[in-house]
Amino acid sequence: MTEKAPKLRAALDGIPTYKPGRPPAPGGPRAYKLSSNENPYPPLPGVLETATAAAGSFNRYPDMACTALLAELADRFEVPVTHLATGTGSVGVAQQLLQATAGPGDEVIYAWRSFEAYPIITQISGAASVRVPLTGGEDHDLDAMADAVTDRTRLIFVCTPNNPTGNAVRRAELERFLDRVPGDVLVVLDEAYREFVRDPGIPDGIELYRDRPNVCVLRTFSKAYGLAGLRVGFAVAHEPVAAALRKTAVPFGVSQIAQDAAVASLRSENELLKRVDALVAERGRVLRELRAQGWTVPETQANFVWLRLGDRTADFAAACEKAGVVVRPFAGEGARVTIGEAAANDLFLRTAESFRQEP
Ligand code: PMP
Repeated sequence: MTEKAPKLRAALDGIPTYKPGRPPAPGGPRAYKLSSNENPYPPLPGVLETATAAAGSFNRYPDMACTALLAELADRFEVPVTHLATGTGSVGVAQQLLQATAGPGDEVIYAWRSFEAYPIITQISGAASVRVPLTGGEDHDLDAMADAVTDRTRLIFVCTPNNPTGNAVRRAELERFLDRVPGDVLVVLDEAYREFVRDPGIPDGIELYRDRPNVCVLRTFSKAYGLAGLRVGFAVAHEPVAAALRKTAVPFGVSQIAQDAAVASLRSENELLKRVDALVAERGRVLRELRAQGWTVPETQANFVWLRLGDRTADFAAACEKAGVVVRPFAGEGARVTIGEAAANDLFLRTAESFRQEP
């Protein structure tokens, strides 16, 4: 045995490991998990049956090309199959996009606060993060983001709706931004929550990508489709970005169970989207009640709400947990609370109300 330790890349120094939303404490009282923006509905019986059937051949590698899934997606979104790439969750695809575009000396721009994984996967790539603060109203400051572009910029994440604030970028602002960004910078529209959007002023990234070769849209089966545990996401992008995603893919990164369940979900879309409608209705109720209680809450288009709590964040999260709901605190800033079952939302609302009344 030598005294030496393996040499690790200096770029990894100081990278925090990704912190997932916490489940209820083991052995503690029963609590609802509202900390990971998951879909509270259990799998549809037909989707579960398909996944179970696929599990019967897990001694075999999956179809690496995800042929059936890509064909289904191409049909669903009216895009060429060569403009699609799947990955291990959309966060896996985001990481592949960075591998394909950015390295030491390069820059990656994103709004802050936004999705926790952006700084982590950017730092892993070796590129530098350029964080552009959200506006006072918690919106992307797209003008400032366009101003931040330099000749080192390789990729820009636009998270819409934004995690954790829930608001989405509007059509005119996004189009103006896309017109300003040079064509050799990849703009990634992260639309993990797209199916929850109801405001007609919020554009569909897949429409914007069509005549813009530097735009890539990220979507996932984890949220509206309820397949978070199966890890399947996808990108819509022109060649050669889609080709680069095929090159950077972890071989066999999407299991056959995940592929078949995703296909079955697309085929059961009507039923799944009814569940999304029910969650959107709950979101409306939660938002109305919070505002009636006196909270200022951004106009969420996702399956969660954002409460800016500052110093009271940890206390609020603890109070929620005591009441039976686990939320997602961001220390010193606020709490993100997933829209769950009505009973869970009620517990959260009750806590919000009592908390509000505290001095
Ligand atoms: N993008 C955003 C904005 C998210 O909030 C999440 C999940 N929290 C993801 C991507 C990743 O989702 P998944 O990897 O499950 O597709």
